Amino acid sequence: MKILVAEDDAVARLFLKAILQGFGHEVILCADGRAALEAFREHRPYIVISDWMMPEIDGLELCQRIRAMELEQYTYFILQTARNRAEDSRLAMDAGVDDFLAKPVKRDDLFTRLRVAERIIQQRVQSERKIRMLARFPADNPNPVVQVDRGYQILYANTASLALLAQWECSVGEPVTGELRGLAETLFATGSRQEVEVSCAGRIYSFSSTSVSPEGEAYFYGHDVTERRQAERELLQLKNEAEEHALHDQLTGLPNRRLFGERLQQETARAVRMGTKVALVMVDIDNFKQINDGFGHKVGDEVIVTVARGLRSRLRPTDTVCRWGGDEMVLLITDLKDRASVAIICSKLTRGVKQETSKSSTSATVSLSMGSALFPDDSDDPTLLMQQADHALYSAKADGRDCWREFKGFPDGHDAKGKADLFIRLSKAVAENRISTFYQPIISTRTRKVEGAETLARWNDEKYGWVSPDVFIPLAEDKGLILQLGNLVIVQALDQLADWRQRGLDLTVSINLSKRQLLHAEFLPGLIGLMKERQLQPEWVILEITERQSVLGQAVGRQRLEELANAGFRISIDDFGSGYSSFDLVGEASFSELKIHLALIRLTNTQRGRRIVQAIVEMGRSLNLRVVAEGVEDQVTQAMLTALGVDKLQGYLFSKPLDPAAFLRYMERGQVSLRRAA
Ligand code: C2E
Ligand code: MG
Ligand code: MG
Repeated sequence: MKILVAEDDAVARLFLKAILQGFGHEVILCADGRAALEAFREHRPYIVISDWMMPEIDGLELCQRIRAMELEQYTYFILQTARNRAEDSRLAMDAGVDDFLAKPVKRDDLFTRLRVAERIIQQRVQSERKIRMLARFPADNPNPVVQVDRGYQILYANTASLALLAQWECSVGEPVTGELRGLAETLFATGSRQEVEVSCAGRIYSFSSTSVSPEGEAYFYGHDVTERRQAERELLQLKNEAEEHALHDQLTGLPNRRLFGERLQQETARAVRMGTKVALVMVDIDNFKQINDGFGHKVGDEVIVTVARGLRSRLRPTDTVCRWGGDEMVLLITDLKDRASVAIICSKLTRGVKQETSKSSTSATVSLSMGSALFPDDSDDPTLLMQQADHALYSAKADGRDCWREFKGFPDGHDAKGKADLFIRLSKAVAENRISTFYQPIISTRTRKVEGAETLARWNDEKYGWVSPDVFIPLAEDKGLILQLGNLVIVQALDQLADWRQRGLDLTVSINLSKRQLLHAEFLPGLIGLMKERQLQPEWVILEITERQSVLGQAVGRQRLEELANAGFRISIDDFGSGYSSFDLVGEASFSELKIHLALIRLTNTQRGRRIVQAIVEMGRSLNLRVVAEGVEDQVTQAMLTALGVDKLQGYLFSKPLDPAAFLRYMERGQVSLRRAA
């Protein structure tokens, strides 16, 4: 950008020049106000940075004179001053100054201010353009358009503005009054274009203006913002209501996650003071989805309320029962002396709640799975404690549910010894073909049918129970076991696909690939061989590669993807939006599908998140890619994603990953119901 600098101090002048040029701007230097005025006429810079104190014409006067020039008033005027008094700033603002810069000038400060200036100039240029365009046919315009000259005379007013003029008690040919008068005065005196809101006949208009034309006239244009303001009011109301409920869950009245976080901090701090222990217990209602699907949401809600009441009534008032979300609850049991008491309390809870629900009006008997971790024995870090309890819950579920398990250590050991042990066990499991695969349905929003399934590796270890793929896949990748492990998965997935196809199920199978597999020279020939043996067609197979593996950044990686695509396989970029995106490369490579990361899907409950997802959908469209959403857990999100134009959906709302037999049963149930956005 062209920047004019007016500064009488030679050192300060050169200093500014050096910085501004360093930022990439074109700089015009002037040693006094008079020279600056001349230079302004000649160069028409977008930004002026002027010292306040200069001989003859000082910074304030320079600003006033520039504003009075009746050129297009985009100029952003920054005044440098060592003074910092309120009356000075008022004076300067009245003269049309946009911003101040404290002396001595700091590089970072200047940088930020210039960024702001650039943005504001851009807005000014755009809004000027827009208003000129909108005001081009004022007679037909449903919004008010009024033209005023430097003497405040109304030169023109369109039909839509007549009611406003009547309200202000003025008409064409007379001086303008009302809110528009103030706007016009500021504009003509300082060149500063402000906005004002005016209500008239039940509508709200936001007035803004063009800059002053060389003939000394300006257009004032009223945008109708009634609906926008109404929506804002409603939103604010909603927000207030939401905040009221923000600490408690509405259904059960229990504390929610936020309040729980506070309690956890308080209780652990208290336990340290008192020398006691706190148990953190994660509770999950077994088979809740079946209850919900089978008996309906109303019964589902009743079950949650009954369980909440059952847990609450069996604990002391000083303990906390919190609704974590969905069918999950978290307990904080305080003032414990030892580990043994946790076992007693938890078994009392599971038994008690089961009895209670069997007596309740719903015909569903409810059992609970629980996992606990003990503070400070297992960990003195609340975050880690949560993970430990969660892991214990995972074990309880894997052990057939309806039970309580305490934390006994992470399978990855969180230390070298644990990791080594885990790796030995994993290697053995791979060698003995004890890695199994689960399948999670993927639903087409167009046909509302299951279109395919994602293969997810599963490992049930004798010592550690079910180990999450988030633990064992990176371990296998790290230690060079991923090729063998990946191969087991591929063989199972292709066998499964062949089986589905034989049963007449028109499904695709998605398989997750690691970078190592993709880059391996034998990978493609091997895959083609396996496909041939089973008489499968490559377009039935979707290979998922996560964004974070960054194969796209490598020429070999891109080439391998291209070879796979040329062989007819479909390639999906997994976990898209998890932070490693390289948008240009997405278009370049041979992808046919883009799978939006679960974390982004969670964000669709915010406007920003919806906008991001929409942008991804649009980008996908323009590149001819199918867009898939993973981690869809509720109907609101599903409806939103469908409305946004996402092609396929996957998530717990439809089904968790299922073993092959359960997957077939799921398929037998038939069509999936998708809800429309409200
Ligand atoms: P991914 O490929 O992004 O798979 C989706 C993950 O999200 C799965 O986790 C799935 O169970 C989970 N998920 C699905 N729907 C929902 C939902 O509605 N809510 C939530 N919270 N989660 C949902 P999983 O099975 O634990 O797998 C984790 C990751 O491990 C996978 O992420 C994938 O990157 C990797 N992985 C799994 N199997 C394999 C494999 O055979 N090979 C390779 N290389 N990686 C694998
Ligand atoms: Mg995946
Ligand atoms: Mg994913």
